[in-house]
Amino acid sequence: MYDVCIVGGGIAGSSLAYYLAPEFKVCVVEEKGLDGVGKKPCPGAVQKSWFRGFSPEDFGAVGRRVRNMRLSAGGRSLRVGFDGYVINRHRLCRGLLEAAFAEGCDWVRGKAEPSFRDGVDHVRADKKRIEANVYVDASGSSAVLRRHYLPNRRGMFVLGCMETVDGGDGSDELDIYLLNHGETGWVFPAEHSTNIGYVKAGVRGLDLGRKLRSFKREVGLDGTRMLDRGYGLIPSYRPIRLVHDNLVAIGDAGFTVNPITCGGIGPSITVANMLAENLGRGEDLDVFEAEYRKSLGNKFEKFYRINHVLREAWLPLWWAAGAYYGDNLLSKLLKGLLRL
Ligand SMILES: Cc1cc2nc3c(=O)[nH]c(=O)nc-3n(C[C@H](O)[C@H](O)[C@H](O)COP(=O)(O)OP(=O)(O)OC[C@H]3O[C@@H](n4cnc5c(N)ncnc54)[C@H](O)[C@@H]3O)c2cc1C
Repeated sequence: MYDVCIVGGGIAGSSLAYYLAPEFKVCVVEEKGLDGVGKKPCPGAVQKSWFRGFSPEDFGAVGRRVRNMRLSAGGRSLRVGFDGYVINRHRLCRGLLEAAFAEGCDWVRGKAEPSFRDGVDHVRADKKRIEANVYVDASGSSAVLRRHYLPNRRGMFVLGCMETVDGGDGSDELDIYLLNHGETGWVFPAEHSTNIGYVKAGVRGLDLGRKLRSFKREVGLDGTRMLDRGYGLIPSYRPIRLVHDNLVAIGDAGFTVNPITCGGIGPSITVANMLAENLGRGEDLDVFEAEYRKSLGNKFEKFYRINHVLREAWLPLWWAAGAYYGDNLLSKLLKGLLRL
């Protein structure tokens, strides 16, 4: 019998395992092998201030140190400042998990299948039956446990398409292009390459691939060699209740993601830390739920509401605010909203 069973060894699950392993009997269930953890089409931009108790530098997981973010819209650009990293997601997750294993955390490689009776009864994976006092759904957008209470629906996610292309100019700047009607493109520096991506709400994969190709042309990267390409679901839903009986959903499974930027790495780590501290103090899980609401959930709820307005009217708002307030105040406002 474990204290905590964590389903998913991505950013949220590996951070939680790292925080809990010194004090608790923990088991991580992950369908990918240790060589695959953290790998997904996500460029991994994250602000330094989100990290608690560890840094990507501790695990050799800094893909690129980043010092600036430039937002461009309608031919006009604004620098809003960014103190953080483009992380190597795989190295970070693997490093966190290996540190947890060294503290006695167990690992089951397999696809988790939960059984419910008055909450989660047990989880099955690799023909093993895993029982725990608390089950944590950190399985990302597949949300294998949370979906029992709140099934995934259309509109809860947007689709992103990302390519890794050869080369990079050694830039320390994240480039984000705000296009109209919820279309956003990015060009982020990576370790020895560049990540270029495109997101649009409500668009299917084929169209998104086409849009990414024309965005590449627009930013002058169409001649580059493609090393990798992938699609991924990004939660863009309102904050939900994370605790259901003995189940807690964190990371993408719990929509602990900034609904405007879709930045979920930092919030996943922060929420994992809050949960670990709550369990460490032996408090009721409802106390954790209330703390999450107060620190991040209420803010994300507001962001969720204004997201629809921003999505449809980025360009006119951008120009009006710039003309009226001037770029300094505009950049301060954006800094608050766009914390990745
Ligand atoms: C295109 C794109 C761009 C993004 N860009 C950024 C960005 O620049 N900055 C940022 O902060 N965020 C970004 N995000 C969001 C970020 O990737 C997520 O918020 C973050 O990875 C959430 O971590 P997680 O641990 O919840 O989920 P994941 O990292 O998805 O991990 C889930 C884990 O659960 C495992 N799993 C799933 N089902 C099962 C099962 N049944 N049994 C066992 N294991 C299972 C998976 O194998 C995986 O390892 C982006 C996302 C996408 C798709």
